Amino acid sequence: MSIATSALPSQANKIRFIDIGVNLTDLVFRGEYHGKRKHDDDLPLVLERSRAAGVKSMIITGGNVHESRMALELAKEHGFYATVGCHPTHSTEFDKFKGGPEAYLDALDQLLQANVKGRGRAVAVGECGLDYDRTHFAAPEVQKKHFRSQLSLAKKYHLPLFLHSRSAHKDFVTILREEGFGINGGKEVGGNGGVVHSFTGLVEELAELMSMGFHVGVNGCSLKTTDNLACAQAINLDLLMLETDAPWCSMTGAHASKVHLNTLPTHLNELYFPPSVKPEKFSPGKVVKGRNEPCSIGGVAWVIHRLHPELSFEDVVDKIWRNTVDVFGLNELD
Ligand SMILES: [Zn+2]
Repeated sequence: MSIATSALPSQANKIRFIDIGVNLTDLVFRGEYHGKRKHDDDLPLVLERSRAAGVKSMIITGGNVHESRMALELAKEHGFYATVGCHPTHSTEFDKFKGGPEAYLDALDQLLQANVKGRGRAVAVGECGLDYDRTHFAAPEVQKKHFRSQLSLAKKYHLPLFLHSRSAHKDFVTILREEGFGINGGKEVGGNGGVVHSFTGLVEELAELMSMGFHVGVNGCSLKTTDNLACAQAINLDLLMLETDAPWCSMTGAHASKVHLNTLPTHLNELYFPPSVKPEKFSPGKVVKGRNEPCSIGGVAWVIHRLHPELSFEDVVDKIWRNTVDVFGLNELD
């Protein structure tokens, strides 16, 4: 270690993150909110803040064919990674697609085929799964059918899954088990495990997912209530990953996580939660209120560290880094 490094006031330089779930294709990062322009494109500043906070890389979420294509483009441009798949709330797109569900699955397949290697590659099949809180977008039967069909892509390309499960645990694990993902993350059928992201379920559900060989992704939404915190604490640290789900899932003062964030050292607080303004009062270099950013991943990590006080912040973060590199095969980041 050089003198210059050891003289730094913090150990922030030793802290490094991979945000496994970031919706960087969302137009709010370009200043557009529900089709209305509110401020300039500030994606470069968002990325600058994330770098300052120790975010070394990200996995950009693809939520349908179009978004997956955009996610891959952004990943190539910035040297990140992407997922390719269709979110349950978009699953009616399979049936509406020209050529039908087979053609839609084939479009996802072709995106994977062309992008499984090199810079900006696809590292997971997803976001896919079931969301029974939002069946107004797609009925459970539609969601189930197209969740199941996407599992074939994970088998074909031996890729991990990036999974979403909301109020649908029973059907979710039933489909995974029926398709061979009930043991060891589906390795026996050609799969390669994966992560159930944005986990907000029950401790028993968590235990079942972990016993099936899946990892669990935690963000601000996973740390909202005291029950959430108890559940987050129960995640085996060898199976834990961090995400922001930005621009969603901001951590707020009303969440149970706040008591833990209150103990965040000032120099880290400045990096993870820079001053914010409303979109209408946009000022370059400031975070937009209510629009979560990858730099806040450090806050999620800090809460996890507080739930495991026997380990240092650095050790927790390092463990999670290792899990992420191993599952998604991101060895070039080391
Ligand atoms: Zn999700």
